[in-house]
Amino acid sequence: MEIFVEAHAINAYAYCPRRCYYEYVERVFYHNVYTIHGKLLHEHVDHAGREHRGERQLYRSLYLRSERLGLSVRCDVIEEAEGVLYPVEYKRGKQAGWENNHLQLCAQGLALEEWIGRKIPFGYLFYYGSFRREKVIFDDALRERTIQTIKAIRALHLQDQPPEGIDEWFRCKKCSMVDYCLPQERARLKGKVPWERFT
Ligand code: SF4
Repeated sequence: MEIFVEAHAINAYAYCPRRCYYEYVERVFYHNVYTIHGKLLHEHVDHAGREHRGERQLYRSLYLRSERLGLSVRCDVIEEAEGVLYPVEYKRGKQAGWENNHLQLCAQGLALEEWIGRKIPFGYLFYYGSFRREKVIFDDALRERTIQTIKAIRALHLQDQPPEGIDEWFRCKKCSMVDYCLPQERARLKGKVPWERFT
């Protein structure tokens, strides 16, 4: 059975491949304050529907698939302005140029392209923390990194053990899987458990 990679998994993989494995291969998901906050902020955009905003049309909560890439995405909003369609993804926090968000948005653009049969040149990330939009250009380099990440996630599904994590405390302490992954405890025990030699 072909595995359809979810766009959210792309975001998780770019944050930490181990996290992606837990959430999308083992299907274990924990919440923390950041994921709960994001969920609450998303309640508005998660209602499917169509809306006019001046010259723009907004289509909310659309599910798309790319058969070519084996990709499944949920777009917060597909916007149409002056005859151009593009995805808009809503994020908590402030704009910080996070690669994981760019890859997730680009995956939405690739799926949208396949659906309408037209090139999607860009999309937007809207940050609740600053109420600003970041325009993300879907250039060749970003497209290629997105496709390579999709392939890497598909390969994760063939593993029976999680990959190495990033083990950077700055990110781990914000990761909702930290109490499941226990990166500090694993680091403390590394090399001290005899059975490690046989795995
Ligand atoms: S706690 Fe750290 S190493 Fe573990 S899954 Fe999260 S980010 Fe990755």
